[in-house]
Amino acid sequence: MEKYEYYRKLNIDRDVYDYACKVESALEDRFRAADEMAEICQLKVLDAFHREQVQEACLSGSTGYGYNDIGRDTLEKVYADIFNAEDALVRPQITCGTHALALALSSNLRPGDNMLSVSGRPYDTLEEVIGIRPSAGSLAEYQITYDEVALKDDGGFDLEGIKAKIRPDTRLVAIQRSKGYSSRRSLSVEQIGECISYIKELRDDIIVMVDNCYGEFVEEIEPTDVGADMAVGSLIKNPGGGLAPIGGYIAGKRSCIEKAAARLTSPGLGREVGASLGIMKDLYQGLFLAPYVTASALKGAIFAANIYEKLGFQVLPDGSEPRYDIIQAVTFGREDALKAFCRGIQAAAPVDSFVTPEPWPMPGYDSDVIMAAGNFISGSSIELSADGPLKEPYSVYFQGGLTWGHAKYGIINSLQYLVNDKIVDRKMLK
Ligand SMILES: *Cc1c(COP(=O)(O)O)cnc(C)c1O
Repeated sequence: MEKYEYYRKLNIDRDVYDYACKVESALEDRFRAADEMAEICQLKVLDAFHREQVQEACLSGSTGYGYNDIGRDTLEKVYADIFNAEDALVRPQITCGTHALALALSSNLRPGDNMLSVSGRPYDTLEEVIGIRPSAGSLAEYQITYDEVALKDDGGFDLEGIKAKIRPDTRLVAIQRSKGYSSRRSLSVEQIGECISYIKELRDDIIVMVDNCYGEFVEEIEPTDVGADMAVGSLIKNPGGGLAPIGGYIAGKRSCIEKAAARLTSPGLGREVGASLGIMKDLYQGLFLAPYVTASALKGAIFAANIYEKLGFQVLPDGSEPRYDIIQAVTFGREDALKAFCRGIQAAAPVDSFVTPEPWPMPGYDSDVIMAAGNFISGSSIELSADGPLKEPYSVYFQGGLTWGHAKYGIINSLQYLVNDKIVDRKMLK
């Protein structure tokens, strides 16, 4: 059977398919580079598995206190190796990315300390962690102060601005690698490294924490390779490889990790407790698959950028620039297009494909948000997913795809929905 026939059965029109093929054929070099990065990262991961002698006993979990959990303890060493870090804390008790970041911050800051974000306003959910928006239990309630330095117009770090804002009580500098849901560019690990060197030269006692969400395995090096004291992320994004059902990690300096462990469980108990229950196999296998899963998502992002850029929509990053995370923003400028895009992504999902995503007033957002996700793991954004606030300029943030085949079909289907609703004219596909 001709390949198109499989797409036709999944409701893709011939002209939409042909357009997508044309776009894809121009991306051979980019895709080869993504595969090569996956290959390098696969070897990094495998080398860590070998060095730490991952064995069958690691795959079954513990219960109760979780003393002497060889699977948990070995996985943390594997993470430390991959991140070229002294140590790592990788736990299902870290419930999500926000929790991992809150843990890294609250355990390493003390009353009277100042935290400085040097990549502008941090990710939405951190506003309540820090206390930018008042919230019970925030750092602000513990007399930890906060300041920030915006990135420059060219997207780079404002080194003069940083120098001016570092005060005697500045204890920790935070850097966010991925743009998250903002309109800035994501930062490369190299750029982050230059900034860290600059800060350490000013004050070598300052702890630098990098929010590494969505960045893992996109580049050959991680922030901890270039001097970050902590790299922090979520296991239901890149490093969980789509299999991890929950969890977060902090990799970095032993002194920072010990403090985080004491805070996560209890002073005195630290990392010695924390049962891994039955999910160790998924954390190991997910990590093992993560480089290629990340590459699939990365190809999906590059493909989406090119599909929509050529149709005249604004895309960030654009179709040709280098990538430092797996997030793709597409700006539609109209509500119906944003909704159609999300319906197309939803309809392409392996789970809940028949569901129609509807905008809803999500806590913490000042407008309704529409989300598309038909996931194996609830809320997992390494799986094909999209969301966008229903307000000007009607941008969608798109990420994930456990396999390239699925990411590709999802994006083609989103375009099909825009064509069906006559938002994209068929003549444009020629
Ligand atoms: C996803 C994300 C977070 C928060 O992670 P959750 O798991 O959603 O809590 C923080 N920072 C960035 C940059 C992210 O992409």
